[in-house]
Amino acid sequence: MNELTQTIQLSGVSLHAGVETQVRLFPAAAGEGRYFVRVDLPDAPQIPARIDAVVSTTLSTELGQGEARVRTVEHLLATLAALGVSDARIEINGPELPLLDGSAVQWVEAIAAWDKTQPAPVAPLAQPITVHAGDAFVAAFPASRTRFTYGIDFELPAIGNQWHSWELDSQSFATEIAPARTFALAHQIEYLRAQGLIKGGSLENALVCGSEGWINPPLRFANEPARHKLLDLVGDLSLLGTIPVAHYLAYKASHHLHVQLAQKIRESQTPD
Ligand SMILES: [Zn+2]
Repeated sequence: MNELTQTIQLSGVSLHAGVETQVRLFPAAAGEGRYFVRVDLPDAPQIPARIDAVVSTTLSTELGQGEARVRTVEHLLATLAALGVSDARIEINGPELPLLDGSAVQWVEAIAAWDKTQPAPVAPLAQPITVHAGDAFVAAFPASRTRFTYGIDFELPAIGNQWHSWELDSQSFATEIAPARTFALAHQIEYLRAQGLIKGGSLENALVCGSEGWINPPLRFANEPARHKLLDLVGDLSLLGTIPVAHYLAYKASHHLHVQLAQKIRESQTPD
């Protein structure tokens, strides 16, 4: 198949930097893995989408290699992993991926036409692995199929305590997980803006929740926030290359804890 016909291009405003960036996706050779290329920088440095390249997890996952950085990689990487794309060259002309509508729907549509490669088999998880911070945790348990279960608990009544559980499957990813959008709490927005974050956030690319309820309904699912957190978890675990077969269970977690779990899984896979 002609690779050029499979080239995919998407652009939009990025969440934190608030700048317009363009992403071009190309199939890569088997074994190359998923990697970013900062085509706007001298010599177009590559940044592997691997756990050892994580440089920051503040509100989004940021990867780096040398001086080059790429941020908010999780929605695209979740999509590639869930749809079985193990190898991809992701060219980007700026420091952060476009947020699009806050979900992964447009990434799914873009990649739908690609030939998928079966991910290389990975040994299933042998032992439970957990990380926690207070009562927030992410855990992985040995299982015969890969499942993700996510719980969140917010004081805002419109969010409250909600859960979602989903078994890894490319068909249902497109309809059950990818459409779930980024969400934000109205009372944190001014603070985050003052920190130089979420400059590109808007009512078009994130659900915003206030004390009286959602500011920009309707929701796509009653538990859309829990599903979005699950999407983020899949994206962060995809930094392992192939996600080991296991049941992943997270509660009130964050990119930081997701990445910590991935690091611990990587250590468990590496004989010392
Ligand atoms: Zn997200």
